[in-house]
Amino acid sequence: MRIVLRDTQRRLLGRTQLDTEQRPTRVHVDRTNREVMLDWESATDDAGHLRKCIVCGCPEIFREKAFPQVTVLVIVLAFAGAAIGIVGQTRIPPWVLVTMAAVLVVDVAILMLARQRLVCYRCRSRFRDLPIARYHRSWDRATAERYPSEQPRDRENAIEAGNLSEPLTSEPQR
Ligand SMILES: [Zn+2]
Repeated sequence: MRIVLRDTQRRLLGRTQLDTEQRPTRVHVDRTNREVMLDWESATDDAGHLRKCIVCGCPEIFREKAFPQVTVLVIVLAFAGAAIGIVGQTRIPPWVLVTMAAVLVVDVAILMLARQRLVCYRCRSRFRDLPIARYHRSWDRATAERYPSEQPRDRENAIEAGNLSEPLTSEPQR
């Protein structure tokens, strides 16, 4: 499983990859070059699925779709292709149409293949490349309100989680 680790103030600690079977109690993170303790106490259910956050110990986590970075690039390419086709000349050259069709196919494929990941309500650490139990639900406002941000980082997290439409619960920094 891959983890993006954050502290209880939701500040990024770094990323790591670990073997779930081995349950390492401490991991080394690349970004801050330090060791982080993991809490595996009742962290998995009978089927071996992760059921709580092993970074901060929070018992509630939600699922979300993990879109690869390439999705943004593909959308930009699609718009660029359309702009060239419209502005460049009134008759759209065949290669533009072919490119746009290819881009569309790739985009749909990415949407269909997008993997799910688990995110901690409290620290917003993310867990991916792991089997996810069916009982984990997607982000829920009532649950999220029980874990208010310890510092005003909600907006960034809301954007990342795709919950931008939700009103902000804290004031922007500065
Ligand atoms: Zn957590």
